[in-house]
Amino acid sequence: AAAASGGIVAYAGSKFDNTAEQTQVAQKKKMVVLGTGWAGTAFLKNLDYSLYDVKVISPRNYFTFTPLLPSVTCGTVEPRSIVEPIRKIIGKNKLLFNWFFILLSQKGEEIDYWEADCYKINTVGKKVLCRSKIGTNLDGTGEFVVDYDYLVIAVGAQVNTFNTPGVMEHCHFLKEIEDARRIRRSVIDCFEKASLPYLDEEERKKNLHFVIVGGGPTGVEFAAELHDFVAEDLTKLYPAIQDLVKISVIQSGEHILTMFDQRIAEFAEAKFQRDGIDVRTGYRVVKISDNSITMKCKSTGETSEPYGMAVWSAGVGTRPVIVDVMKQIGQENRRVLTTDEWLRVCGCDGIYAIGDCATISQRKVMEDISAIFKFADKDNSGTLTVKEIQDIFEDLCIRYPQLELYLKSKHMSDIADLIRDAKGGDVEKGSMQLDIDELKIALAHVDSQVKSLPATAQVAAQQGQYLAQCFNSMRDCEEHPTGPLRLRDSGRHRFRPFQYKHFGQFAPLGGEQAAAELPGDWISIGHGSQWLWYSVYASKQVSWRTRVLVISDWLRRFIFGRDTSC
Ligand code: FAD
Ligand code: MG
Ligand code: MG
Ligand code: MG
Ligand code: MG
Repeated sequence: AAAASGGIVAYAGSKFDNTAEQTQVAQKKKMVVLGTGWAGTAFLKNLDYSLYDVKVISPRNYFTFTPLLPSVTCGTVEPRSIVEPIRKIIGKNKLLFNWFFILLSQKGEEIDYWEADCYKINTVGKKVLCRSKIGTNLDGTGEFVVDYDYLVIAVGAQVNTFNTPGVMEHCHFLKEIEDARRIRRSVIDCFEKASLPYLDEEERKKNLHFVIVGGGPTGVEFAAELHDFVAEDLTKLYPAIQDLVKISVIQSGEHILTMFDQRIAEFAEAKFQRDGIDVRTGYRVVKISDNSITMKCKSTGETSEPYGMAVWSAGVGTRPVIVDVMKQIGQENRRVLTTDEWLRVCGCDGIYAIGDCATISQRKVMEDISAIFKFADKDNSGTLTVKEIQDIFEDLCIRYPQLELYLKSKHMSDIADLIRDAKGGDVEKGSMQLDIDELKIALAHVDSQVKSLPATAQVAAQQGQYLAQCFNSMRDCEEHPTGPLRLRDSGRHRFRPFQYKHFGQFAPLGGEQAAAELPGDWISIGHGSQWLWYSVYASKQVSWRTRVLVISDWLRRFIFGRDTSC
């Protein structure tokens, strides 16, 4: 709503009062957005362009619906069906918010997109240095510099090989649409190779050994997808060699799918065992050569195995441009770029980071305990009554989400329970009073519930949307300083901190079965969950075009099977 009204105000200005528009244009702050993935796209879809002079820079001029990438590797879904041109998405914003005024004035907001990589950010001079791969400028480099007032970094993460020798040269990754295309071609190539007349049995087996390194959601989903592809389509076409196929999932931890509920992990392991997928837990890959993969296990030592194709989906790393920013702003000792709860990068000015490239550093209750006490103690009595605490409780929960998690973990519904706990025993409601030391005891373990958010599309999209809403109402908040939240960080912004809402997660396990973990500890596994998966992922598509394409791909697969020509 804020975005819509902002846009309308700006348009009314341009229609009826030209001088007003000119001053507004002159005052517009320069905003640069890096990246057109989940976070960047969600940001752009929700931003009111009339308020800022926006430049978007990303090496890919499209958005990729990453959750369906594993389906692309086996031809269940076509590559074109899960990408959407960023220029179309940018155009849609105009249509969504300002269609009425576009009809009236025939004029849309300007927003630029440039296909380039940002290779350096100058955090002091407020510039981004970019390089285009598709065209060169006068000095022959394709490099250019863009100034910003606000920089939104949404460049995502890159694969992490943990410096394992041979991974870069011999493994496939599964991160981009081209990766999925390459894997698809490679799977078919392996089958064709194994069918050649001059190979012996050993070599056929080698070519049909598919290795997936990493038992996280991506690796597991790819393994399941590949198994279905082999069982449903390829065995019919390659009957002579069907018994030689082997799929292995190598996982360094004790279990696969560790980020899911244990019941889901167990179900997945059992299903994979029934399907004949070899799950090797406790193995770490140490080297990959042209035709063999070497792994280490604590109990049995090092083993080498021949393979036909390997996919590496173990771990995410930080992009070099982000590592450089971290050095500039004194975050070199951290693993990931760190922001505060408002998604502002700590240690510099005007830079925001969303999605996989950053992590939020949640403030601790115990660090602020004296300030909290003083703030709550409205009558300066030196003690807090239940009412005084209850008055600030909602604010506290917003500022420190760990508090709510802590109460939940203790099966407490109310702050009075916490006080009773701190006082040790039954205290009558009217006479409950806490001094600062008792408050400290009551809240002592709350910070143990601080959790970092997972690197998922869900988090990235919510952060993009939140940040856009902040930018849309920034001017409003500056003009009306009484914000909705009193307990905030020294008045720089008057917005609530980012709050993540978890809507659950899926793990498709093949054979038209999926595992779903929904809010409230609700677990569902089986065919029903697969249908839920279909409907959720159809509804989450960024455009009607991709939605129609994805659904028709699924139908085509149901009727004709997957395409195996590559
Ligand atoms: P990305 O989406 O990776 O976007 C980064 C953008 O930055 C890209 O446009 C890239 O081109 C651009 N970029 C990169 N470098 C530069 C640079 N130097 N300068 C400018 N731009 C740059 N999450 C879920 O929640 N559910 C799922 O089911 C799920 N399945 C997944 C399956 C696969 C195969 C993969 C790989 C991921 C999956 N994820 C899933 C995770 C999800 O895709 C990521 O968490 C999400 O993409 C993060 O969004 P982001 O915007 O931070 O990064
Ligand atoms: Mg992005
Ligand atoms: Mg993406
Ligand atoms: Mg990413
Ligand atoms: Mg008091």
